[in-house]
This record gives sequence, structure tokens and C-alpha cells, in this order.
Amino acid sequence: MAIPVLRSLTLKQAIHAVLAAFVIGLTITAAEFAWTASRERATALAQMADAVALVDGPAATAAWLIDAELAGQVLQGMVRANAAWAEIRLGDGTLLARRERAAGPATLPVRAATALLFIDRPVVAHDLTTPPSGYKAAGVSRIGTLIVGIDTGRAASGFLAYVSAALVAGTLRNLLIGLAMAAVFHRLLTRPLLQIGRAVARIDPEKPYGQPLAVPRGHADDELGFVIARFNHTLTLLEREHDELRRLATRCPLTGLANRALLLDRLDHAIELANRAREPDSGRLAVLYVDLDRFKRINDSLGHSVGDLLLCRVAERLGASVRRCDTVGRLGGDEFLVVLERVADRDEAAMVAQRLLDGLSSLREVGEHRVHLTASIGIAVHPQQGNGQETVETPDSTGLMRMADSAMQAAKTAGGDRFVFYTRDMTDRAETRLRLESGLREAVAARAFELVYQPKIEAAGGRLTGFEALIRWRHEGAAISPADFIPVAEDTGLIIEIGRWVLEEACRTATRWALDHGPVPVAVNVSARQLADPGFARLVEQVLQRHGTPPHLLELEITETVIMKDVRHHLPTLNRLRALGVRIAIDDFGTGYSSLAYLRQLPVDVLKIDRSFVNDLPHAPDIASTVIALAQRLLLSTVAEGVETAEQRHWLAEAGCDCLQGFLISRPLAAEAAEAMVMTAFARNEALPLTA
Ligand code: C2E
Ligand code: MG
Ligand code: MG
Repeated sequence: MAIPVLRSLTLKQAIHAVLAAFVIGLTITAAEFAWTASRERATALAQMADAVALVDGPAATAAWLIDAELAGQVLQGMVRANAAWAEIRLGDGTLLARRERAAGPATLPVRAATALLFIDRPVVAHDLTTPPSGYKAAGVSRIGTLIVGIDTGRAASGFLAYVSAALVAGTLRNLLIGLAMAAVFHRLLTRPLLQIGRAVARIDPEKPYGQPLAVPRGHADDELGFVIARFNHTLTLLEREHDELRRLATRCPLTGLANRALLLDRLDHAIELANRAREPDSGRLAVLYVDLDRFKRINDSLGHSVGDLLLCRVAERLGASVRRCDTVGRLGGDEFLVVLERVADRDEAAMVAQRLLDGLSSLREVGEHRVHLTASIGIAVHPQQGNGQETVETPDSTGLMRMADSAMQAAKTAGGDRFVFYTRDMTDRAETRLRLESGLREAVAARAFELVYQPKIEAAGGRLTGFEALIRWRHEGAAISPADFIPVAEDTGLIIEIGRWVLEEACRTATRWALDHGPVPVAVNVSARQLADPGFARLVEQVLQRHGTPPHLLELEITETVIMKDVRHHLPTLNRLRALGVRIAIDDFGTGYSSLAYLRQLPVDVLKIDRSFVNDLPHAPDIASTVIALAQRLLLSTVAEGVETAEQRHWLAEAGCDCLQGFLISRPLAAEAAEAMVMTAFARNEALPLTA
């Protein structure tokens, strides 16, 4: 920024220097003038006294002889010499003669100077005491007096001439001194300051660091040098702080790995490089999305500090398993991203992925705890390798990350502890899922669901023992299986809303059937999220009350895996439900590795043998018979799901299974058909009598 001349430091300091020179110079000149003035006056008086002494003789003679003519001649001489006027008075004071110089009117400066020098109008009075030779002065000491008035005008004019000359010379001198001072200041101060200013202006505000200011020549050890040194020092400190901030903004504070922002940045850069590489075989880019399996369990059981420690160990392992030029970052939680640059093909990426898995599984201890760590890895390669053809689509960093994420989800679904490459249909699946999700939201709002009821019968006698309510949803003209949309509803939390509707609807139906035909229990499936909801037991109680449903007509089916995942957490809710009088069944039993110890403690009434084991009947009856024996030992009743053949039915009845459910008995029925079945059963006395 250029500073206008009028406001420039150079002009300001020049003005101040000149003013200072003038003040000092004028003060000195004034003192000089005062001194000169008094000297002028003394000189004029002394000269006049000398002139008077010279004419002492003739003046005394003129007075003695009272010779006015002689006196006039003497006085004329005085006036011609330097006096303004002169007179001789006799001893008694009578004027003998007087002469005056004829002077023109004085100018104002002269009058002022006169007033300054001779304000008291000084005169020289000289007593005439010596009579002419030959005369004796008898008893007379003073013959007369010669009085001379000094010509003040002339003296003042001389003084004025001197003063004018001195003023002109002084002004010139003051000006020169002032300018010289300004020049010195400029050289010593303003110029280096301007240099510093220009250097500061050249600093790039985006990258202010690494360009310290140069000290102007000759100022290394003075105040300017000091100021610049301080400035440079401050800049260095700021740079360090800036670096630290940048590190914090781009690094995960726990592990020190790159964070999401930095990863995306690196990924963008790597994508650009890969796009530019002529030979795709040397310039591929692989993105590995690493998610630890069951990390939440470790975190919950061992505590967060152990979890954090584990994440740090994982970060180290991942870093140690890749090249220096590769990037390892943490996306948050237990999710990491590894960016491999210049990868030849999928095989190379697969090799690294396997190395990462091996590295993680070799991590056996964290602190004092033993762990068994596995991970799911999704791999996206860019550009993709297709049958001799490279894909044309160029994903951006988020796109590539999402692809790797989808592949990771696939690895998770397949059981974890593996890596999976991204394929196009994963995106299709993800899109389908998104569509499903939004459709589900609309369906929840519009209550666009329906319940169908699948009957359960007594294995031994064939009497009706109850129904299982199963949800149905028609979306875009097609029936969507609950096996497909219930997990989505779980993930999105919509299951809470859906589950409440199912519960209401089932209770309403059970109450109506009980009033119209007779009491028939209805089973409702409960999802993990519903069970984990702290208000669930209270909700069930309210719904039962609202519809006037006897609690023993409601059975809640909870899958074995859900209960066993967190028994301790679910136990209070199960106990409360049981206390309401509601029956509890463990669904899909046999698939969840139930601990017998837990099973004994659980407040359950029914075990539902999973369809897959019923399917194996009668050739592979081991599990089915074990479950039945276990249930008998624990005084629980058993329901076999998915009974499709007469052999299965026969085997189950023989083995002592209590109830049967499956297509052999009936497919799930619409409410009206189910009601007709209830009606017939009561009419023919084929419903199992219930004891509340
Ligand atoms: P589930 O609770 O084990 O339900 C039994 C499933 O097996 C039902 O499938 C039923 O139609 C089917 N099934 C019954 N008998 C046979 C048979 O003989 N052969 C074969 N192949 N299948 C048979 P559906 O209705 O598709 O339900 C699937 C799962 O969706 C259910 O498994 C349950 O876990 C869940 N589900 C269904 N309705 C609800 C609900 O209202 N809430 C919740 N949370 N989950 C539900
Ligand atoms: Mg069920
Ligand atoms: Mg089941």
C-alpha cells in the first residue's frame, strides 16, 4: 500500500526538523540581537564622549568669552560629526548657542529600533572648566556646559542593517540544518522502515512462513535489527503453532493417523495420479476399508480405555503392514482406511489386505487383556480391472470410499475376518436398499402394512394351539419379505414404530377372537431394537390394557441370537414382561449357541426349533432331539417351525415336540381366513383349552 506524500513519514519528519531548527536558531539570534543592541548603545555614547573631549578647549573659550559665534562654530562641528543636536549653556544655565541637524522623518523600523536602543534619549553633558590661556578663573569652577544629543536615528539604522543581514543568514542556516536533519533521519530510519514495510507486504498471507525478513544493511545490532529479529522469531512461533493446528485438523487425536478430511484429500490426489498414469498396470489405486469385527463388544466388556489402547495398537499394525508411500487413516470408531498407490492389480491389493488381516490377528494382547481380533476389509480398485476393458466411470474420493465401504459391508455380512472386492451389484444393492428405506418410511406413515396369521397345532392331537402374527408389506406392486425389510427397519430405527403397530394389531385381533369365538394365543415377533428399548415392557402393558387383551393370549417371540447377545441387559425387561403374564418364546432356537447356564435363568416358556433343523428331519435328527430333550428338562414347551412334510410331523410327534407350525399345517393366512379357522376349531371343539 502506497502512502500519500502529504502523509508520508519523510515529509512529516522534514517539517518537524526544519521547525526545530528554526526555533533553536531564532532563540539564539534573539539573544545575539539583545547583546548587540546594548553594545551599539555603549559604543555610540563612548564615541560621543570622545568627540566632546576634543572640543573641550574651544567650547570653554566660547563660554568664557560669551562668544556665541565661536560657540556656534564649535557646535556646528559636533553636529557634523555625529550628534543630533548640541548646545552650550553658561554657568548660570543661560543658552549661549544651539545647533541641530536637520533630519528627515524616520521610517517605522528605524523608529522602533531607536525606541529599543535609546528609549531614555541619552545625552552627553560635559562641564567646561578651563578658561582660555591668559585668563584666570577666580573662584569659578564651571564656566558652562556642553550638552550633546546622540544621533539615535543613525545608530538605530546601523543596528537595523545588521539585524536584517543576520535574520536572512539565520533563516538560510536554519533551513539547511533542518533539511540536513531530515535527510539523516530518512537515511537512518525511514528508508529501512520502508524496506521492512515492503518486505512485510511481499509476505504471502496464505504461506507467511519460511520467509524471514532481511535486516537492512548496517542495522543488524541496533533497535531496527532487534525489531526484525523479534518479528522473525514471532513468525517462527506462529509457524509452529500453525503446524500444530494443521496436524490437529488433519490427524486423529487418538492414533495420530490421517483423519477423514486428510484421507479424502490424499484420495483425490491419488485418483488424479491414477487417472493420468499411462499404464494402468503400474498406476492403480486401491482403497481398503477396514472395520474391526465385534469391536463394540471389546469396548463394552473391557472398557473404553482398553478400547482406545486397542485402536492405537491397530493403527500401529496397519501402518507397519503397508509401504511408506501408502496412507493409513482412521475414519472414526473402529473404521480405518488404507490407500495404496501404484498398485499393479487386484492380486497385489489382495496381498496387502491379507497382510493387514494377519497383522491384526497376531495382536493377541492389549494391556493385560487377551483379545482375538479380526476385521472385515472392503477393497475398491481404481481404475477397475475388467475383462481387458477399463471402466470408464471415474469416481471421486467419496465415491471410491463408498465403494470400499459397500465391499466391507459385504465382508461383514459374510461373517467377517475376510476381504471382499467391490462389485457393481453392491452399489445396486445399496441403491435398492435406499429405495427400500424411503418406501418403508412412507409405509410407516401410511400404516401400509398387514398382518397374516400362521396357525400352530398340537403335535399329538392336532388341535389348534395359537397363531404367529407375521407382517406383510406390498411395495411398488410387489410383496416384500419381512426377512428383507425388517433388517432395514432395524437399522433405521423404524422398527420401533412398526413393532408398536404389529403389537396393537395382534392384541386387537386376539381380543376380538377371544370375545367372538374363544381364547386363542397370538405370537408376535420382537426385534432386537424393540427389546433394547427401555420403554418396551411398559408399552406392552399399555397395549394389553388398551385392547383388553388377557396377557396369556400374547406370546412374544424373540430370536435366540438377540437374547444371547446381551442376556444381562435384556433380563430385567424379560422379567417385567413375564410378570405381566405374557408368554415368551425363543425363536429360531438352535442357531444362537445358547449357553445352558443362561437358559436356566431366562424367564421363557417356549423354544421354537429353527426351520433349518426341522428341514433336516428325519435324516439328521440330532439337534431337534437335543432341543426337545433340553426343553423337557427345563419344563419348556417346544414348537417346531417350518414343518413341510408328513415325515417331519411324524418324527416330531414321536419325539415329544409339543406344537407344530409350517406349510404342512397351513401357510400364513389373512386375518379373515385365520378367523374362520378359529371359529371352526371352537365349533368342533378342536381348539386347545387354555388355562390362564
Ligand atoms: P420367523 O419368526 O422365524 O417366522 C417364521 C417364518 O417362516 C415366516 O416367514 C414364515 O412364513 C416362514 N414359514 C413358516 N412355515 C414355513 C414352512 O413350512 N416352510 C418355509 N420355507 N417357511 C415357513 P416370514 O413371514 O417371511 O418372516 C420371516 C421373518 O421375519 C420371521 O421369522 C421374523 O423373524 C421376521 N418377522 C416377520 N414378521 C415380523 C414382525 O412383525 N416383527 C418382527 N420384528 N419380525 C417379523
Ligand atoms: Mg417368529
Ligand atoms: Mg423362526
